[in-house]
Amino acid sequence: MTASTTGHPWNAHTPCPSCGESSARVVATRDGKTGEALLTVACTACGLGRIDPMPTEQALADWYSRQYRQAYKAAVQPALRHVLRAGRNALDRWHWLARMQPVLAAPEAGPARNSLDIGASSGETVALMRHLGWHATGIEPHQGYAQHAREALDLPVRCGTLLEQIEHTPSASQQLVTMFHVLEHLADPLAALRKIARTLAPGGRLFIEVPNATRLCSPHYMFFRAHTLYFTQPSLHGLMQRAGLQVVAASEPDADNLRVVVEVAPAAPALAAVAIDRADTLVQAQQRRRWLPYLLEQLRTARPLHKLMARQEEKRTAARYANGRELLQSLYGAQGGQRGNSGPAMLSGRAFSG
Ligand SMILES: [Zn+2]
Repeated sequence: MTASTTGHPWNAHTPCPSCGESSARVVATRDGKTGEALLTVACTACGLGRIDPMPTEQALADWYSRQYRQAYKAAVQPALRHVLRAGRNALDRWHWLARMQPVLAAPEAGPARNSLDIGASSGETVALMRHLGWHATGIEPHQGYAQHAREALDLPVRCGTLLEQIEHTPSASQQLVTMFHVLEHLADPLAALRKIARTLAPGGRLFIEVPNATRLCSPHYMFFRAHTLYFTQPSLHGLMQRAGLQVVAASEPDADNLRVVVEVAPAAPALAAVAIDRADTLVQAQQRRRWLPYLLEQLRTARPLHKLMARQEEKRTAARYANGRELLQSLYGAQGGQRGNSGPAMLSGRAFSG
C-alpha cells in the first residue's frame, strides 16, 4: 500500500460493505490518534467511508480484547460524571424519539413492550427504558461495563458481541431496538442489520445513532482505528435500504451525530430509490478540516469554554450522589416532574393526568 493524498482514486482491497464496489477515493492515510498508517477511503458508488483493508470480525474482536484487557481483569466502576452524561444522553435520545415517533411514547394498555439496547455500556439506556415501563434488556461486549450494569444497577445486560448475542434474541420479539455508536465499529454492517431486523416485532423500530463523518472537527481527530465505517446521511440511509429497512425518521444531515429510525421495509426497495452519495462529500469534509478554520470556529463559538464549564457542572452534580443507581433514579425521576404533558407520564411512569 502506498501513501496517497486526500481525494486520490483508490482501488480498495476490500469491497464496500454496503454496496460491494471496490472503486473508492482516499480520505485519510493516518490514524488521527496514534499517527500510524491507516487508510480511510470513501466508496465512489455509495459514499460510505471505511478503513481499507477492512479487518475481519475476528481481527476486530482481538483488537478490542487487547484494548479492554485491563478492564477484563477487574470490575469497572464508571465515574459518576460519566453515568450522569450517559444518562442525560439517554434522555435526550428518548425525547427526540418520542417526538419523532409518538406511537412509541404513547401509554400502552397491554403488557410491557420489549426493548433491546445493543452496546448498552454501563446500562443507562436500559435503566431509562425500564423506568418508562418497558421490558428492557441490553447487550454489551465490554465485560466490566456489562457486569456493572448487572450488579450495581440490577439490569439484564448480557455480555458478548452483537453478532453472538443477537442470535439468542427471539425472532419478532422487540418493539424497539436501540444501537448508539455501535454501527461505526462493525466490519459487516449488512449482516448485523439483517440479524437485528429478524428480532423486530411487527411494527417494531430500530433507532440508530452514529457520528456524522462530515462534521467539522480538528484535522487529526476524525479517523482512527476503533472506527471501521464513516457515515454521511445519504450513505447511512443507503445502507439501511440495502439491509431491507426503511427510514421512518431522521435527524438533520448536518447534525454532529446522525440519528435514524427504521422499520422492516414491506418489500425490497427499487434500486433507483436507494440513497447515494458519491465519495466527494467525505473527501471535501476532510479537506475542510484545517487547523486555522477549526481554531477560528472554536474561538467564535467558545466551544472549549462551554465544554469546560459543562465538565465542571457534571462533576458538581455527580458529587451529590453516592452511586450510579441513586443518580439515575434522581435524573430520570426529576425529568418527569419538570416537563410538559408529553414528558411526565412517560418519564416518571405515572398515569397521564392531562
Ligand atoms: Zn459503497
